[in-house]
Amino acid sequence: MCYRDKNAPIWATIPSFPAYYLCLVSKEAGSGPSGLVLVSACLAGRACRFDGTSNQDDGVSRLVAEGRAILVCPEEDGGLGTPRPPAEIAGGDGHDVLDGRAKVVTKSGRDVTAQYVRGAELALAVARETGAETAILKSRSPSCGKGCIYDGSFTRTSAEGDGVTSALLQRNGIEVLTDEDIS
Ligand code: SF4
Repeated sequence: MCYRDKNAPIWATIPSFPAYYLCLVSKEAGSGPSGLVLVSACLAGRACRFDGTSNQDDGVSRLVAEGRAILVCPEEDGGLGTPRPPAEIAGGDGHDVLDGRAKVVTKSGRDVTAQYVRGAELALAVARETGAETAILKSRSPSCGKGCIYDGSFTRTSAEGDGVTSALLQRNGIEVLTDEDIS
């Protein structure tokens, strides 16, 4: 299910419904007074992954239906289209990218760091504007992952670390969970 109007911010097009399920979740997750939770759009069923598919998660989809989920896709919002070449962080994790010590590159070597940082900044701006204090993001993504990402070798080898958006949100006091945490 996709609520997005291409001409509007993704979070501005979410219909508001009475919430119950997410209230239960957000009490545990500490989503703050607004009761809203930032979520990776692909977990809500939006086909915004690099290969044009989604990672639909039942729990996140229920949060969307309850009207408390704010969808963001930092890679699209940062200016990358879908489909797009896969990218990984080379030389560190999202914190290193934010500090200028690492880059995000595609498999063919294109530097897409600026787009990833821009998407992260937009996600943070949405969180601040909506009052969301918790995010549920897609695990292992170079944007959205928390605690574990791919190591930059494009061999699906895992490494400890956070994605760029995940890192920026955490640095600004947003609690970040992944789909693996809520499954
Ligand atoms: Fe977009 Fe994050 Fe999902 Fe990647 S993991 S498709 S950046 S929402």
